[in-house]
Amino acid sequence: MANLNLIKLYDLFDCKIDGPLNERTLQSLQEWGLIPREGTYLCPEGHPLKLKQCAQSVDGYVWRCTTAIKGKKKNVRCDVYISLRKDTFFAKSRLSIFKIVAFAYLWVKNLTLDVIMEELSISNHTASDWSSFCREVVYDGMVVNKNKIGGLGKVVEIDESKFGRRKYHRGHRVEGQWVFGGVERETNRCFLVPVEKRDKETLLKIIKDWILPGTIVVSDFWKAYDCLSEEGYIHFRVNHSIDFKDPDTEQHTNTIEGLWRHVKCSMPQYHRKKLFFNGYLAKFMFNRNCKNCDTDRLSTFLKMAGRLYNPCSIKPVEEEEQEEYEIEISL
Ligand SMILES: [Zn+2]
Repeated sequence: MANLNLIKLYDLFDCKIDGPLNERTLQSLQEWGLIPREGTYLCPEGHPLKLKQCAQSVDGYVWRCTTAIKGKKKNVRCDVYISLRKDTFFAKSRLSIFKIVAFAYLWVKNLTLDVIMEELSISNHTASDWSSFCREVVYDGMVVNKNKIGGLGKVVEIDESKFGRRKYHRGHRVEGQWVFGGVERETNRCFLVPVEKRDKETLLKIIKDWILPGTIVVSDFWKAYDCLSEEGYIHFRVNHSIDFKDPDTEQHTNTIEGLWRHVKCSMPQYHRKKLFFNGYLAKFMFNRNCKNCDTDRLSTFLKMAGRLYNPCSIKPVEEEEQEEYEIEISL
């Protein structure tokens, strides 16, 4: 399917911003994994629950079993309801499903919360909540369920960079935040991890978490990297400055230097909260992946949300799906 946009979304919801959904919408929500497919829920008698229209439900549908059961004296019917939203990405929200999906669309497009609030007629509080849920989704999709980068014959440039300087803001001292990152030169796939320390233990653990053995790793002369050739990597050290190329090895770290510039530009310049830092970085990685792999951001995001908010048991991650979580740059 061609990339989703607001017009296509609006059309998918039959041009209704709230109220009962239609079958086409339900089918798309199931394809994204945001609601279960029929046959997932069973009633206590073991019958598969079906999506049934229900005028009392805001979304127009509920999971229902009304199968006849043979009783001792007379036949009775199952009478089981489960809310369409139970344990899904939409649970605990009173926003219409259209508005939630539209929020996700505008959010992955990197619009500011002020713009999103205005476009969707939602409050500041609702927008902050949903922004936080969306950050959780990309954090889970990009960091918790990470795809390692590198591998045999691949080059990964690594580096640390400090975000923000020490400054005084409304009487508080605001410290900068160190971020450790790496980028696969061939694909631009990257990882970014905030770190409190830049010692060998901290950085080596992240390297092993994120970079496949056998990778050609290029770094600067920071002492924490001294061990890399003993840890299964082919390690080159180069002088750190833009457009520098080692005359003997031809190695350089221009890719990661470029990455830092892009990440720093993409971070919200105001209200940047340390608590949200992981989420910002994960969002950057997510956008970069979608751009590099030319995948549709919204459907990739919604599938990640469906995986995180899975009302049923954890299902194995399909290989084909993993491919989509490669990494963009949002400027
Ligand atoms: Zn039943």
